Amino acid sequence: MTDGARRRVVAIDGPAGSGKSTIARAVAERLGLPVLDTGAMYRAITLAVLEAGADPGDPAAATRIAADAGLEMEGGVVLGGHDVASAIRGPEVTAAVSIVAAHPEVRRVLVERQRRWIDAHGGGVLEGRDIGTVVVPDAAVKVFLVASDDVRARRRQADEADARRAVTVEEMREAMAQRDALDRGRSVSPLRPADDAIVVDNSRRGIDSIADEIAARFHEAAGGELEG
Ligand code: C5P
Repeated sequence: MTDGARRRVVAIDGPAGSGKSTIARAVAERLGLPVLDTGAMYRAITLAVLEAGADPGDPAAATRIAADAGLEMEGGVVLGGHDVASAIRGPEVTAAVSIVAAHPEVRRVLVERQRRWIDAHGGGVLEGRDIGTVVVPDAAVKVFLVASDDVRARRRQADEADARRAVTVEEMREAMAQRDALDRGRSVSPLRPADDAIVVDNSRRGIDSIADEIAARFHEAAGGELEG
């Protein structure tokens, strides 16, 4: 990554359902930067693993599939020439993604792609689990988004209902708790706030107020760079 590009990065990390995508889009709009949903990349590789009939727990198979996958993140999520934006949200992928994402070699392949994306775009807003800690430790602004379990479960349940999948808030809460536990407990790049991240509670504040604050901090950091 070039120095200039990584200083124009906003890192947005947090657990499932904390509202990262909504905040990332609102921040990107304010700053005129593109967004990269890194969770969609782990989901796309997981879809490829399942479609190949491979075992998500097999690191060698998952790594080979990640390295060979024709994954495009411009204008949607395209895998092997097919738009998979909705397929990657299905229950099978959601249930297996944290297993695939725990393989260090799979992460190495995707982190490298994420850094290339940053260079190609001269910066951007990246959302995920390890952006501030691993992918871009010197990002201009690092945010760790949290929200109450109740708000997160309700939000994801509403997404599922929109996609015509019937799950209860209670089922959602349990599934999310399991995924968060895997993401927090893995040995490589566990979900955690960077030491210098600002922790923002998205169940207490509106989207505009949060996005305004992040954009202001980005301008402050960029201004500091120019002065320094
Ligand atoms: O953000 P989303 O919920 O779509 O992410 C799906 C999964 O991908 C997460 O539960 C996590 O296991 C994995 N992930 C990750 N590192 C990232 C982004 C997502 O491990 N930077």
